[in-house]
Amino acid sequence: MAKIFCIANQKGGVGKTTTTVNLAAGLAQLGQRVLMVDLDPQGNATMGSGVDKRSLALSVYDVLLESASVAEARTRSDKLMAAGCGYDILGANRELAGAEVEMVELERRERRLKNALTAVDADYDFVLIDCPPSLSMLTLNGLCCAHGVIVPMQCEYFALEGLTDLVNTIKQVKANLNDKLLIIGLLRVMFDPRITLQQQVSDQLAAHFGDKLFDTVIPRNVRLAEAPSFGLPGVAFDPGSKGAQAFVAFAAEMLRRLPK
Ligand code: ADP
Ligand code: MG
Repeated sequence: MAKIFCIANQKGGVGKTTTTVNLAAGLAQLGQRVLMVDLDPQGNATMGSGVDKRSLALSVYDVLLESASVAEARTRSDKLMAAGCGYDILGANRELAGAEVEMVELERRERRLKNALTAVDADYDFVLIDCPPSLSMLTLNGLCCAHGVIVPMQCEYFALEGLTDLVNTIKQVKANLNDKLLIIGLLRVMFDPRITLQQQVSDQLAAHFGDKLFDTVIPRNVRLAEAPSFGLPGVAFDPGSKGAQAFVAFAAEMLRRLPK
């Protein structure tokens, strides 16, 4: 059975997409079969995985509206495959922004993705879902099918505030729609140990969240930021970089933490 994880945080620019594509590449490099689902109409995870969002024949939009199956809509990137960390991609583009409105009338609209993923469950060890920066119907579709949520966060003062909303949403989804849902963990990203405040917030997170805080810390690393313009996750773009190595370590930590 595939483990399905949402990468979520309702704040924008906190490293969700970077985490999704690099964890996908890291797990693939460790021999896992991975499907990456882009649930953000910006399509950054799609582009960052080497798939041109403008030329997608079918996307997650078609899957949500049940005009295509996941098997029909998924694609791959040759560049990623050549780099030895290939994974399947269920891409997104601007069309997805309309899905929210078009789905309002539909029954069981928050379970569309869950139903669609059931058909490909046996094909994967992991399904990673890159969520948009909102607690919208799209994010709800992600949370409905997930076993757990991975929350990337920067160690800044306001990071903790936003976390309360996300934790409450997860509690509500767990109570009403998906009793399996768990927070797998918080991932510290874009970390700069030279900044005292970041170190302090990191210590607070450790004290407050205990083993819900991943041991791996992702440093601020320019190679991770440069990689998307080459259509590759950092793990494939510059495997020797500190950022890439941290994400491969994170993938290994995920595997260690899973119940056997
Ligand atoms: P989100 O998906 O939450 O909006 P992104 O993953 O797109 O966030 O990251 C926001 C910006 O920060 C992007 O330009 C990305 O390249 C950059 N970034 C993300 N993680 C790192 C990192 N560890 N080091 C340096 N830049 C990063
Ligand atoms: Mg994003």
